[in-house]
Amino acid sequence: MHNAVFAAAALDWRFVTFDIVPGGAAAAIGSMAVLDIGGFAVTMPHKEQAAGAVDDVDPAARALRSVNTVVLRDDGTTFGASTDGRGFVDSVVAAGHDVVGMRVVVLGAGGAARAIVDALGRAGADDISIVNRTTATATEAARLSDVAHVGVIDDVAQADLLVNATSIGMGTDDLPLGPAWLRADLVVADIVYHPLETALLRAARHEGAHVVDGLGMLVHQAVLQQELWTGLRPDPAVLRAAAEAELATR
Ligand code: NAP
Repeated sequence: MHNAVFAAAALDWRFVTFDIVPGGAAAAIGSMAVLDIGGFAVTMPHKEQAAGAVDDVDPAARALRSVNTVVLRDDGTTFGASTDGRGFVDSVVAAGHDVVGMRVVVLGAGGAARAIVDALGRAGADDISIVNRTTATATEAARLSDVAHVGVIDDVAQADLLVNATSIGMGTDDLPLGPAWLRADLVVADIVYHPLETALLRAARHEGAHVVDGLGMLVHQAVLQQELWTGLRPDPAVLRAAAEAELATR
């Protein structure tokens, strides 16, 4: 996906993957200047260590204690950001829905859900209800925003936006909630993107709801990563086409 943007912009950058040994994120970040690595996209399980290893972080990374993007700045210092949550918000906005003032139900309280709760709060959502199988993690996620709280599934009846941030539906036809909760005036976003049209999105479309698929979050968080690394804002359509092509091979 990132290489498609570098090619489209004729940038002499390459995106390559490294397997980092457990606990090796700090050493990898420390080697950036020597190896002339401009940036990292960090995946689990290294996000927390990366947050502690960089010189400076953005507010989302500080709140989440998690970094998914590292930039080597011109002065040799490193900067860490968490782009997942804002990428999610940007994907909802790009689909034509303003999150300011929205009442939201987030299903799930894992790493992705936490980033989304944090970003929705910063973006001006009015109320964020977190519904999760394990209450303790929902309670912890609710601490990320003043407008967030642990909720119950009935909150969907008052919501403008429903987000599936659980892994339910990944490679299966399972639904994260009963289809009776879906209605035409609800925006339904699924962050699961394999399959691209999850059972939840299919059921939501059937009810006439507005749907936002999980590739939107992946693409828009990558837009933010590219901007941090190169200073250039890429066309989301280039990333989306590359991501769809990659998905088609799975
Ligand atoms: P995670 O930290 O492991 O969290 C998983 C969440 O799903 C937890 O809230 C967990 O509940 C819940 N869950 C899992 N199985 C469940 C079940 N059978 N019944 C009820 N709840 C269940 O994972 P994550 O990193 O947040 O990722 C979640 C999903 O988002 C994954 O499918 C991942 O691929 C996707 N994702 C997409 C993007 C994107 O860009 N679109 C980005 C990141 C992640 P408990 O707390 O009770 O265990």
